[in-house]
Amino acid sequence: MKKNKKMEEFMRNKVNKNDKIYIRDLVVFANHGVMKEEQVLGQKFLVSCVLHTDLSRAGDTDNLKYSVNYANVCEFITKWMKENTYQLLEACASHLCNEILMEFRSIDRVEIELKKPWAPIGLPLDTVSVSMERAWHIAYIALGSNIGDSRALFCEAIDKIESRKDCDIIKISDYITTKPYGPVKQDDFLNGAIMIRTILSPKKLLDLLNNIEAEAGRERVVHWGPRTLDLDILLYDDLMMSTDDLTIPHIDMHNRDFVLKPLAQIAPYELHPVYKKTIIELLEDLNI
Ligand code: ATP
Ligand code: CA
Ligand code: CA
Repeated sequence: MKKNKKMEEFMRNKVNKNDKIYIRDLVVFANHGVMKEEQVLGQKFLVSCVLHTDLSRAGDTDNLKYSVNYANVCEFITKWMKENTYQLLEACASHLCNEILMEFRSIDRVEIELKKPWAPIGLPLDTVSVSMERAWHIAYIALGSNIGDSRALFCEAIDKIESRKDCDIIKISDYITTKPYGPVKQDDFLNGAIMIRTILSPKKLLDLLNNIEAEAGRERVVHWGPRTLDLDILLYDDLMMSTDDLTIPHIDMHNRDFVLKPLAQIAPYELHPVYKKTIIELLEDLNI
C-alpha cells in the first residue's frame, strides 16, 4: 500500500481494536539455526501469526481491498523466511514481525509464534517455539531551531522521517515563533510538534533524531544555547521511562509553552502519563 493511502487507513476510525486475522502453522522449509547443518540443510518451521487490523470496512463492504489479504501475507512470510538466515528463532521472529508491519501497513500489531518441530537437540520433543508481539507506536516530537533557515530545516527533518519505512508522519502542527527559554541570550526560536507512527524502539528513535540533528549541523556548545535543529521525544505511547540518555515523557515538557502550544494543536486530549492531565490542561496550568 502507498504511504499516503496507508495514512488514510490509519486515520480511520479505530473503534474495532479487537479485530484480528489468524494464520496457524504455515509450513516453511528454511535455514535458520545456530548449527552449521541447520543453515546448510534447512528444516521445517511452522509460522503462526495474529494480525491486528481494523476489519470494519471489509466487514461492511465485503471487499478484499479493505482487508489484509492473508494469502499475500503467507506468501510474503514464506519468501522472507527462505531468503534470510538467522541463528536464533528470536532474531528471525523479531525481524519478521517488523517486515510484516512495514509491508502490510494497515496491520497495527502482529503476534508471531515460530515453531521448530525438528529442533536438533537429541531428545524427543513436539516443538520448540518463540513467540513475540510487535506494533506501531505513536510518538510526539518537538522541533526547535534558531539558527539558519529553520522552516527549511524542519521540512528536511520531516522528509527524512517520512522517507523511512519504519516511520510515518501523521500530523504536523503550525510553527510558532517563541522567545528563548533559559538563561542564554539568543535569537527567537521557531517551534513545532509532529505526531509520528514508528516501529523503532524509543532508544532507536532517539538515535535517528540525533543523526538528523547532526546532519542539520547541530553543535552542542552551551546547554540550552542556539541550535540549527533540536528534536526531542515528548511522548511515546503512554510509556514512562528514564535512563541516562533518555527520559520519556520529556522531563520538562509540562513547563514549556513553546512545546505545549504546538502539541495542543495536534494532540489536545493526549494524556500525559505522569501527571495524568491532557495537553490542553497542562497548557492551561501554565497560563494561570
Ligand atoms: P532539553 O532536553 O532541556 O530540551 P536540549 O534539548 O537543549 O535540552 P540536548 O543537548 O539536545 O538538550 O540533549 C541533551 C540530551 O538529552 C541528549 O543527548 C539526550 O540523550 C537526552 N534526552 C533525554 N531525554 C530526551 C528526550 N525525551 N528527547 C530527546 N533527548 C533526550
Ligand atoms: Ca530541547
Ligand atoms: Ca534535545
